[in-house]
Amino acid sequence: MVINFAAGPAKLPEEVLQEVQKNLINCNGSGISVMEMSHRSSNYAKIHDLAIADLRELLNIPKNYKVLLMQGGGTGQFAAVAMNLIGSTGTADYVITGSWSSKAAKEAAQYGKVNAVLPKFDKYVDVPRQTKWKLDPNASYVYYCDNETVEGVEFDFIPEVGNVPLACDMSSNFLSRPFDVSKFGLIFAGAQKNIGPAGVTIIIVREDLIGKHLKLTPSVLNFELMDKNNSLLNTPPTFGIYVMGLVLQWIKRNGGVAGMSQLANAKSKLIYDIINSSNGFYYCPVESRVRSHMNVPFRIGSAAGNDALEKEFLAKAEAEGMIQLKGHRSVGGIRASIYNAVTLDETQKLAKLMLAFYENNK
Ligand code: PMP
Repeated sequence: MVINFAAGPAKLPEEVLQEVQKNLINCNGSGISVMEMSHRSSNYAKIHDLAIADLRELLNIPKNYKVLLMQGGGTGQFAAVAMNLIGSTGTADYVITGSWSSKAAKEAAQYGKVNAVLPKFDKYVDVPRQTKWKLDPNASYVYYCDNETVEGVEFDFIPEVGNVPLACDMSSNFLSRPFDVSKFGLIFAGAQKNIGPAGVTIIIVREDLIGKHLKLTPSVLNFELMDKNNSLLNTPPTFGIYVMGLVLQWIKRNGGVAGMSQLANAKSKLIYDIINSSNGFYYCPVESRVRSHMNVPFRIGSAAGNDALEKEFLAKAEAEGMIQLKGHRSVGGIRASIYNAVTLDETQKLAKLMLAFYENNK
């Protein structure tokens, strides 16, 4: 048996994969696969509209927020957010707490003035408290990344930014904990961690922010056009949306977003408890307050990591079927990604391996 701890594309619930398999060549009695269905057909419309309705229900999305399904991934949204929102004042605030928010800020700088709210850090291991932020009252929006997938830094609060719209990248912790949508102007998430296969990107945007795009905005990244066309301006990633719909139903059957959150707390606690009680053998550089519940990065042997020990650990993990545990190439070490579909039982297997490895090498 294989246990997949990948950072994304990542594990999908087995139940969902089995449903996909069962329906692959005859989707919902249509006689054809969802991949072969016109995106303008009534069969596809049911799938599309149900996925959006289920998402609205799961997150209790208020009526004045639109849900858009787009392509281009998180990186597409780095540009889209700026193109659609920066036009109000020409400037935006970026809270840079890791690799992904840093990339988003660079992309946005092509379309307007980007103000870095925080000083530049050598290492991303914390989210400074808001009292230390330098916000610009003239900003079109304040941007942040709720969970930095590479560094394992997750916000433990929703920023208070007054009347300035808050824009958030939730790609790697979307649907892993409840949150109040009304505190945001915009939220986006690429699907390939907690929602489905790569190719779908979800955008939740307050309706008054729609229609302010820069003239150069391509139609496929234009929130107003996408909204007017119920995300069917052009061919959407139909298969991805279908699988996403099944994942949303799986979440509904498993306690909703609150259920996912309980599970995420239990799983991440298991791993962090071992790290914390290993006398430095396992080392996680992230401040405990903001340690991610989805991506747990750690080094073995010392704070800088012992190459030989880390290789041995990864080999032992692979031998037991635990795969894709290697840390991101920019930070090294180990990273256990424990998204919604990774079970408590699977996480316990990793915990057991970590304990045994510690006993043998401490
Ligand atoms: N934001 C976050 C938090 C991510 O983890 C990633 C990487 N999956 C991205 C953005 C970029 O996503 P994509 O590869 O879909 O462009």
